[in-house]
Amino acid sequence: MKYTEMSREQLQTELAHHKAEYAAHQSRGLKINATRGKPNAEQLALADALLTLPSTHIASDSTDVRNYGGADGLPEMKQLFADLLGVTPQEVIVGGNASLNMMFDCIATLILSGVWQRGQKFLCPAPGYDRHFAICEYFGLEMLTIPMTPDGPDMDIAERLAADPNVVGMWCVPVFSNPQGYTYSDETIRRLAAMPVANAAFALLWDNAYAIHHFKGVRPQPLNILRECERVGNACRPIIFTSFSKISYAGSGVVAMASCVENLNFFRKRINVQTIGPDKINQLRHVEFFRDVAGIQAHMDKHAAILRPKFERAYTLLSERLTQTNAEWTTPDGGYFLSVEVPGCAKRIYALCREAGLEITEAGAAYPYGKDPLDANLRFGPSFLRQDEIDPAMDVLCSAINVAAIEQVLG
Ligand code: PLP
Repeated sequence: MKYTEMSREQLQTELAHHKAEYAAHQSRGLKINATRGKPNAEQLALADALLTLPSTHIASDSTDVRNYGGADGLPEMKQLFADLLGVTPQEVIVGGNASLNMMFDCIATLILSGVWQRGQKFLCPAPGYDRHFAICEYFGLEMLTIPMTPDGPDMDIAERLAADPNVVGMWCVPVFSNPQGYTYSDETIRRLAAMPVANAAFALLWDNAYAIHHFKGVRPQPLNILRECERVGNACRPIIFTSFSKISYAGSGVVAMASCVENLNFFRKRINVQTIGPDKINQLRHVEFFRDVAGIQAHMDKHAAILRPKFERAYTLLSERLTQTNAEWTTPDGGYFLSVEVPGCAKRIYALCREAGLEITEAGAAYPYGKDPLDANLRFGPSFLRQDEIDPAMDVLCSAINVAAIEQVLG
């Protein structure tokens, strides 16, 4: 029976039971951090052969990778990113080790050059990635929340908002979105490509952070945004970002942006002033280690084998223990997060988890300005946990959800 169908007396009994259970978990003195989607040591070790590479310091175009230069990236690294993203090497610029840095810099460049202005507006599908929202806040771009659906952002709302000339861009995480793990449908991608916009400098910041991060053997094949935009005459609308952060090393991967040649030339002007060149040794060792897209995919299958049991165990425990609540959660085939919705209870659950030694992402963080309108979304990153930490973490999370859900019904 659901809590909402119980008498006050029954609810009091349930509350006492779940509070006792919660107190027992609390007394274990746990210290578990599931706040972020960090790969665990076992995943990182999969790429440890990188530490013995590259085997040469000369790249395919005779560049000595130990030296200055090569701001655009080594030809072989550009080719690998191009193959991964389904674009041409001319549409790629290779960066350093953090795509977030490239995204920040992209917005900085657009604002510093006067293409965009502080105070203008940005479309933010939510729940979404808190660090995207932090960049907008830093640059004084007003964030407009767009609800997420299993097919991607609610496109009726996106299209309505994009008719405002002050709307200059939109965040998109098209595959295994953070945190719900949704992948944009073809229809959503077509609508984003063709969306009428009032500001000619409108851009889709297409953060393909989880492009190949499946863990159940199903690889999403979304439409190619660059080609779709080109097809409908908006070739320069998307700016794509991707990275090796959750393929090789989170702290020492390689990243790239892809866009139309005209956009890349615009960004190059700043990049060439900013740096004499990125870490080409790291690029070469990545190309030697992974070789090609098939090599990357084979490597991602090894990540999947480590991640899958953690997610599956977590989903099993959620479905066994939250039957009486109105909690809902997604069960994606990839990505890095568990996303649970408990309307009206997220802040309380977050606090209860903290008090029992389980750190999850702060309630509200998945929304612009940290304000979840329904106080519903909870984000939990299982990847960093050892397999034997999943049960104790879910014990705390499920007890906290039950306690908060009963308290809510009791009023
Ligand atoms: N984009 C999304 C959607 C993410 O979830 C993350 C990390 O969690 C990043 C980007 C960070 O990427 P990078 O390590 O390349 O900066």
